Amino acid sequence: MKERSSDKFSDVEDNIKRITENIENAKLRAGRTDTVRLMGVTKTVDPEKVNFSVSRGVTLLGENRVQEFLDKRDRYVGDPEIHFIGGLQTNKVKYIIDKVKMIHSADSEHLIAEINKRAAGAGLRMDILIEVNIGGEESKSGIKPEMLDELAYKTAELENVRLRGLMAIPPVDVDGSSDRYFAQMQRLYSDLKEKTKDDGRFMIDTLSMGMSGDYEHAIMHGSTIVRIGSVLYGYRNYNT
Ligand SMILES: *Cc1c(COP(=O)(O)O)cnc(C)c1O
Repeated sequence: MKERSSDKFSDVEDNIKRITENIENAKLRAGRTDTVRLMGVTKTVDPEKVNFSVSRGVTLLGENRVQEFLDKRDRYVGDPEIHFIGGLQTNKVKYIIDKVKMIHSADSEHLIAEINKRAAGAGLRMDILIEVNIGGEESKSGIKPEMLDELAYKTAELENVRLRGLMAIPPVDVDGSSDRYFAQMQRLYSDLKEKTKDDGRFMIDTLSMGMSGDYEHAIMHGSTIVRIGSVLYGYRNYNT
C-alpha cells in the first residue's frame, strides 16, 4: 500500500500545530490582534515535504538560494506565495523577478535599482523590504540603521518597486534571545511607518523578523512575518 503523505510527514503536521499555537500565544501576550504570518523557509527541504506543509496551511514560502529555487519551483503545488529572503546578487535579479511576490533582502541602492529595472521590464511592481544589519556585524548583509531613511526615500522615487517595510537577522544576544535587537527594529519600523504614512509612494506594513529560535520574541516586538525553517521541516544538515 502506498504510504500516505500525512503519515510520512506527521512530524511536519505536529510542528505546524505547535508553531501556530506558539504564534497565537505570543500575540496574546503582546496584546496584538493583527496578523502574523508563518513563512516556511525551504532551503534544502524536499519539495514533497514543502508541498505537504502548503496543504496544511503554510501558504507563504521563503526562498534564499536562486539556483535551488529555480530547480525546485516547478515541483511546488498548491500555489504558495513565494518571497525571496536570501542574499541576492544583482546579476541574479532577472531570474527571479517574475517568480516571487516580495524580496526581503534589498540592502543597497544598486540592488534596488536593478530590481526596479527588471520589474519594469517584466511589467510589474515589486514589493521589497530593506534588510537592516541591526547587530552591526561585519559578516552579515543589510544596511546600517543610520542609512535607512536615505535608502527608503531613494526607493520611493522608483516606479517599479514599492517599499513595504524592513527585515532583519539579528545576532543572538547575551541572554540567549535577540530581544534588544528586535526592540531596535521595532523602533526603526514604527518611525518609518509614522514618517511615511501620508506619502502615497510608501505602504509600510511588513516587519520580517524571527526565526526558529526566537520567533516568539520577535512577535513580542511587532514582527508581522516569522521565517521558520528548522523547527518546521526538521534540522538541516548544513548551516546557511
Ligand atoms: C535559514 C533562514 C531562516 C530560517 O532559519 P531557521 O533557524 O532554520 O528557522 C530564516 N531567514 C533566513 C534569511 C534564512 O536564511
